Amino acid sequence: MWAAKVLACRLVRDQSKASVADAPRRSPAGETLEARVVATYGRHMTVRAADGRRLRARPFGRSLTVVCGDQVRCRPDPRHDELHVVEVLPRRSALYRTNLRGRSEPLVANLSHLLVVLAPVPAPDLFVVDRYLAAAASAHLAATLVVNKDELGVDDSLAAELAAYTRAGYTAVRCSARTGSGTAALLAALPAGAMAALVGQSGVGKSSLVARLLPEEQVAVGELVRAEEGRHTTTAARLFDLPEGRGLIDSPGVRDFAPAIDRLEPRSLGFVEVESLAAACRFPDCRHMREPGCAVRAALDAGTFHPRRYESYRRLRRLREELSAARGPQQRRR
Ligand code: GDP
Ligand code: ZN
Repeated sequence: MWAAKVLACRLVRDQSKASVADAPRRSPAGETLEARVVATYGRHMTVRAADGRRLRARPFGRSLTVVCGDQVRCRPDPRHDELHVVEVLPRRSALYRTNLRGRSEPLVANLSHLLVVLAPVPAPDLFVVDRYLAAAASAHLAATLVVNKDELGVDDSLAAELAAYTRAGYTAVRCSARTGSGTAALLAALPAGAMAALVGQSGVGKSSLVARLLPEEQVAVGELVRAEEGRHTTTAARLFDLPEGRGLIDSPGVRDFAPAIDRLEPRSLGFVEVESLAAACRFPDCRHMREPGCAVRAALDAGTFHPRRYESYRRLRRLREELSAARGPQQRRR
């Protein structure tokens, strides 16, 4: 059901008064400018040049996929007050979702951190949490668990699950968007220069946390984006500045995206425990399902690999195999 979830797409017009400086029109023809995409709404976007100017831009040509966070090369469009994005510079990282045609497409680029949010209510679906953690590891992003609504109390069974994540090497920060407790610790979990996004099930408080984390001058922009989200049909994404050169990319399309299964690291599927155990498996191509001499299964039997995490791994492995089986005949038909 989760995989089949249809993600709502919304359009936000840029009303942040991004000034279109006239400098680009004065640039000699052929001169290009490097900039960062700081907001997208449909095919339109705002880019920020190295000198801080915010300029309107549009991809040049249909084939160019440009997402928030991208570093791009632009050329002035002499006929309009905007820039043409002519090149997307190589991405250090990207988050992919599966679109409605079953293909994976980038959502945001150049993130360094995923903040995976859960809460006592709604009841956490830890398979969803594991899927985000797997997507983060597969995209080489650091991941931190954020337990929001902490003031409601964390029961023993959730506390035990959190302890298992901590043993696996993850950090879990407990906080409350409502009371503000723990939000400083959450910011502190992001090193200087980090670029993060909040993801997680609907209702866990991601929007509320974004509003809490944004410095005062950015809050109004965040509220405007959310008000506009409801009115339009294409996903808006925006990069907000946090103190110490950190950034937060927020977008309805990112907040509860379904990570693309075919982008998961093929061997470990992004499970950090499997990653470190697999070297000791008898077969180098061990899938850690029923193979003899499997170090992952041995750790499970010895009680050092959490059974519920292994169950998540197995579900994702099966989903992935079903997906490639379903794709096989289609690919042959083409
Ligand atoms: P999102 O769907 O993850 O973006 O969640 P929202 O930010 O829209 O929040 C969902 C609901 O949880 C709203 O009714 C919020 O007021 C509530 N909420 C958010 N953060 C907290 C919190 O720290 N404590 C409590 N008790 N409720 C919260
Ligand atoms: Zn194995």
